Amino acid sequence: MNQLSNESSFWMPFTDNRYFKANPRLLASAKGMHYYTPDGRAVLDGTSGLWCVNAGHTRPKIVEAIQKQAATLDFAPTFQLGHPLVFEFAQKVAEIFPAGMDRVFFANSGSEAVDSALKIALAYQRAIGQGSRTRLIGRERGYHGVGFGGISVGGLVSNRRTFTLLPGVDHLPHTFDLKNAAFTRGQPEQGAHFADALEGIVALHGAETIAAVIVEPVAGSTGVLVPPKGYLERLREITKRHGILLIFDEVITAFGRLGAPSAAEYFGVTPDIITCAKGITNASVPMGAAICNRKIYEAIVDSAAPGIELFHGYTYSGHPLAAAAGLATLEVYREEGLFARARELSPYWEERAHALRGAPHVIDIRNLGLMAAIELRPRDGASGARAMEAFHRCFDEGVLIRVTGDTIALSPPLIVEKAQIDQIFDKIADVLKRVA
Ligand code: PLP
Repeated sequence: MNQLSNESSFWMPFTDNRYFKANPRLLASAKGMHYYTPDGRAVLDGTSGLWCVNAGHTRPKIVEAIQKQAATLDFAPTFQLGHPLVFEFAQKVAEIFPAGMDRVFFANSGSEAVDSALKIALAYQRAIGQGSRTRLIGRERGYHGVGFGGISVGGLVSNRRTFTLLPGVDHLPHTFDLKNAAFTRGQPEQGAHFADALEGIVALHGAETIAAVIVEPVAGSTGVLVPPKGYLERLREITKRHGILLIFDEVITAFGRLGAPSAAEYFGVTPDIITCAKGITNASVPMGAAICNRKIYEAIVDSAAPGIELFHGYTYSGHPLAAAAGLATLEVYREEGLFARARELSPYWEERAHALRGAPHVIDIRNLGLMAAIELRPRDGASGARAMEAFHRCFDEGVLIRVTGDTIALSPPLIVEKAQIDQIFDKIADVLKRVA
């Protein structure tokens, strides 16, 4: 059987399987800022894999930690048992999030972190005598992974239309305003009022029915939608006033993407729960987490009758390899000052991104920290096709970009050099001249 034909056994996720298997693009190894194809061609990673390899690829410290752990303790259950590393890691993770957010529930992906957070929010409301609060509020154009909880609060029609969704979910409007905010550098000045829609939802359903609101502080997967100034602050104020928990889904933004440990710290807005994954282990071993304010843990755990307090968890919650990889990852971030490095590089990043204004097909450019989006005008009758052509050309010519719809989304490892930032944007400018 030809493993790279449509006869292949591998059913690829979020992929046009038939196209890929007819036109495979494979990655065989990686080091630092680069991937290498099976024939040894270097591809500069402009996307940290999938927004996740924040410290760059195959970092020796992380590799060695995983190797050592695999030979020492390959697996240990965390149901009714434990292993020392996971306690140490939870402590270290808590230290980098805002004060008071120091109870860490481990999962194995962003999707699982989100579903855990939504369940914890419901359990919290019930524990404090607010059991009527069962509604969950997401946002249009939100991406929260692919669990049934995540797609229900998510705002992407393609991810939702085929599946049965959770009941009692409502959505805030997204904050993307192409007409008024195109080519804004950083946060748009206008748009805090988008948060006021939550007052409308409260008026419609009653605050006493709403458990939590979940948003990405910067929406990543749907094209780097930067929150308008004052928006997150207003969301925080409204949720607090109505006894609604605020969840920040920081699967992309945590661990340095904005030049700070978390978006919560970057924006100075502290939610009740933060979900993270990806950069928590530099993507070397799958892991996700829901980081909770201590009051949530106290309400669910400390006030419960003796016995299991929360009927939720995964076989691999706090897996020893992930904990070892995570500890080494946090050390690399700290030793190399990578969050500060991202912050220092971001003005140069912004400059280079916005220099694409005026390039063929470009109708908007957005950026924050080391994230950027270049929005292309869709081809008539073929939305997404133009960006996909740019993606294929860039890859074939040595630069990995990511596309979502007609948006090019960029998020390089935080070790990126200025010359590599040049290479990414020069290649995109060059390719856009040739894309039909
Ligand atoms: N939440 C956000 C904000 C994400 O960006 C992602 C993935 O990109 C997820 C959740 C889902 O993470 P995973 O693919 O690890 O399940």
